[in-house]
Amino acid sequence: MIYTFNLQTPNEGFIDITNKVKEALEKNLIAEGICIIYCPHTTAGITINENADPDVTKDLIFALKDIFPDKKEFVHMEGNSAAHLKASMIGSSATVIISEGNLLLGTWQGIYFCEFDGPRSRKFFVKIIKG
Ligand code: ZN
Repeated sequence: MIYTFNLQTPNEGFIDITNKVKEALEKNLIAEGICIIYCPHTTAGITINENADPDVTKDLIFALKDIFPDKKEFVHMEGNSAAHLKASMIGSSATVIISEGNLLLGTWQGIYFCEFDGPRSRKFFVKIIKG
């Protein structure tokens, strides 16, 4: 089963989607398996990182801007090559183990949808596989 979630994103930011992934899992009620969270966009991504201190994601955004600044040498006509670079760096998906009916996340981990070229209407998919 694939679950589709829609979201409105800000200009740039990490949106905590952990509870939405848990919603999908609650509809399945499987004890053991894996969960894939996938983003079908080229200027957004999915990652897992700290959700206790919101300053961590602020620092990640700051550092990604520093690593991938806009360059006049970029030739992509849409003008958002820095966003494409950040999306490739972060990746399009994350995989989480399901154990005893729960996501096997660390105490401080959350699942994030990462927007690099918003605001936009976005979506992501959650696929749950029993096993
Ligand atoms: Zn583009």
